[in-house]
Amino acid sequence: MSDQTTSAFDARHAWTTLSRKDPAKRSAHDRIADFLEIYGFYDEVEAREQASRCVQCPEPTCVAGCPLGTNIPEWLALTAEGHFAEAAAALHSGNNLPEICARVCPADHLCEAQCLISGQAQPVSIWAVEQFLNEYAFTHGIVKPSVAPPNGRHVAIAGAGPGGLACADGLIRRGFAVTIFDRRELPGGLLVYGTPEFHLERSIVQRRVELLRQQGVVFELGTPYAEETALPALLQRFDAVYLAFGAKVPRSLALPGADLNGVHQAVPFLLQAGVDHPGSKLLVGGRRVVVIGGGDTAIDCARTAIRRGAAETTVVYRRDAGSLPCMRRDYEAAVEEGVRFIFQATPVAILAQAAGGVTGLQLARTSMGAPDPEGRRPFEIKAGDSYILSADVVFLALGFDPAPPPPTSPSRLLDLGEHGEIKVNARQMTSLPGVFAGGDLVRGPCTALAAVRDARMAVEGIEAYVGTRKPLG
Ligand code: SF4
Repeated sequence: MSDQTTSAFDARHAWTTLSRKDPAKRSAHDRIADFLEIYGFYDEVEAREQASRCVQCPEPTCVAGCPLGTNIPEWLALTAEGHFAEAAAALHSGNNLPEICARVCPADHLCEAQCLISGQAQPVSIWAVEQFLNEYAFTHGIVKPSVAPPNGRHVAIAGAGPGGLACADGLIRRGFAVTIFDRRELPGGLLVYGTPEFHLERSIVQRRVELLRQQGVVFELGTPYAEETALPALLQRFDAVYLAFGAKVPRSLALPGADLNGVHQAVPFLLQAGVDHPGSKLLVGGRRVVVIGGGDTAIDCARTAIRRGAAETTVVYRRDAGSLPCMRRDYEAAVEEGVRFIFQATPVAILAQAAGGVTGLQLARTSMGAPDPEGRRPFEIKAGDSYILSADVVFLALGFDPAPPPPTSPSRLLDLGEHGEIKVNARQMTSLPGVFAGGDLVRGPCTALAAVRDARMAVEGIEAYVGTRKPLG
């Protein structure tokens, strides 16, 4: 890089002259023909330019917006200076799965929403610089298996989703032996079974899992937690246990016609679209698909339907476009790919033909009220203002509720909150000493990033706990 270019990066207030530029996307025509990721990566010049838009706030609001509290300005400054290896090391020290979080994290609702230059200019493209650094780190051999000396302690982790993988990484780097149990055949949890590859390709998760295996993590897959790995049995064999399996159920719809053949939850559709799944597929080719909802699952479902050959795909959302809870860049990608959006409408009935199949929805128009103290705008159904939208298949993507442990679950041994969530202390330890928990089990439905945050706290807690205990004989 020339001195002239370097001095440009050194200039303060680069954001006033440099516009935000996200990495290039593949054309919509090309990307709906496959399930691969849609964004490319910055080259080194672009990464430096975009990172230089950060003004290095003395009290960085982006850090406050990050559930992990990652030191974002530190690695942005290092990137702007061209010290990519150091920047990647700083990024990786604050996040066990940065290459995964950068792909699934709703940055535009978190760190980028808090970026100080927002309002005067587009926020710093934090997610894309992070993507660049992750790719740089892997392709330049900076991410290596850790070689911490063994400490003689062994921890069981129940669940190979993001929380379980992050906890395993944190523990193995401190010398613990780690065994992860998961009832599914592939590690990754919802990263594999519920996240379309246009967000997160399987190879990215496999790369991380392979790294963990190289570090000595043992995966026992296809093992139902509630049976072979029940808590009392685990505590006989391991110094500590971390519970990190998902616990959420998709919300249903209490409407006439909601039980019709042709009305489905979005999650099973994503699951069977994402992983080679034995048995029948839910086919949408040539059919008119309507998705109800406006979150990430709704948009993922619509974009998956497009890739599966749906004739028309429409998302119906009860609020306005500005209230969509999904990531903005996903909404824009969905529009480019041919998804149609109907805002300020909500179904009041799902309609059927005589044989029982779906023919459409009766939609009522809604009006929006003033924002509540949390900025959420309530909506009301406009009386007498409804119309019919034709459809063959309806997917429900209405969010998730906590899934309390069933009566036979070993988790019933633990203190639970009123919604069945497991109670933990500040270091994620449950009421049963040596048993730790995080993610959905503790918070109710939560993001991968929150699961990683809990895992990092649990690593601290487990280390402190085993330090007070004799090793198992
Ligand atoms: Fe940089 Fe924005 Fe964070 Fe400030 S808030 S340190 S400008 S990324």
